[in-house]
Amino acid sequence: MNIIIAKSAGFCWGVRRAVEKARKTANDSKCTIFTDGSLIHNAHMMKMLEEDGVRQSADPATLPPGSTLLIRAHGISPERLAMLQSLPINLVDATCPDVARIQQMALEHADKGETVLILGDPDHAEVIGLLGFAKDRGRVITSPHDVEALPAEISNVCLVSQSTQSMELFRQITQAVLKRFPEATILNTICNATRNRQGELEKLATLCDKFVVVGSSASANTQRLAQIAAGLLDTVVVDSAAELKESDFENVETVGITAGASTPDFIIEQVAERVKSF
Ligand code: SF4
Repeated sequence: MNIIIAKSAGFCWGVRRAVEKARKTANDSKCTIFTDGSLIHNAHMMKMLEEDGVRQSADPATLPPGSTLLIRAHGISPERLAMLQSLPINLVDATCPDVARIQQMALEHADKGETVLILGDPDHAEVIGLLGFAKDRGRVITSPHDVEALPAEISNVCLVSQSTQSMELFRQITQAVLKRFPEATILNTICNATRNRQGELEKLATLCDKFVVVGSSASANTQRLAQIAAGLLDTVVVDSAAELKESDFENVETVGITAGASTPDFIIEQVAERVKSF
C-alpha cells in the first residue's frame, strides 16, 4: 500500500504555539496549570498535556488563588476576559494571532455601526468569542439560506468567517451576501493553515484512491476536512490507528492521509504505519 501524508496534516502553527506555551508555563511554574476549557479538541493530546502538568478547568472561578490559567487558541470574548481578570489568578494568553486578527476586525466594523455576519459553528468557542467582539451587532450564519432570512431592517453589513470554515461554503455565502447587500464588506478570514489544508486535499485527490482523515469527532475542523475529503474521494475518518479496518482498504493502491489542526503527529504516524501494513 502506498501512503502519501499531506504536508499540512496535523497541528497548525496556532495550536502548536498554544501547546508549547502551555508546556513552558507548566514547566516554569513547577506546578499544575489550567486551561480555560479544552485547549485543543483531541483527547490523546489532552492526556499527554495532563502528564506535563496542564489540566482543563471547567470553572475557573473555583481555582485556588494564585493559579495560572491559559486562554485557549480559539480566543474568548471581552466579557469573559473581564470576568477572568476579576479572579485572583494569573492569565496567560494563548489566543492564536490569526483569531485575534478576526476579533479586531469584528470589533472595528461593529464600532462603525455595521452588522457583523460571522460564518461559523454557533457553539464553537472561537465563534462565541467573535460574537463578543461584535457586541450586539454580531450574527452567526451557517448557510446562504441564513443570509436570505436576515431581518429586513439590516442594511450595513460586513462578513467575516471562523478561521477554520470551508472555503467553498465561504464562497457560497459571499455570493448570497453580495446579492442581498451589494455594498457589503467581505473579509475572508479563513486562516492560511486552513486554506493550505483544504487546498492540498484537492491536489492529493489526483494522486490517491482513498483518503484517511485523522482527528477527533469533537474537532470541528477535522469533521469539516472529512466532509471536503468525502466530496473528492472515498474517505474514512478515524481518531486513532485502532479504529482502522483492513476491509476498508481492499483494492486500494494509494492512500492519502490528512489530519485536523488538533491531531498530534504521533497519532498520524501510528495511522500511517497501520495503513501501510494492510
Ligand atoms: S486553525 Fe488557523 S486560526 Fe485556528 S489556531 Fe490554527 S492557525 Fe490559528
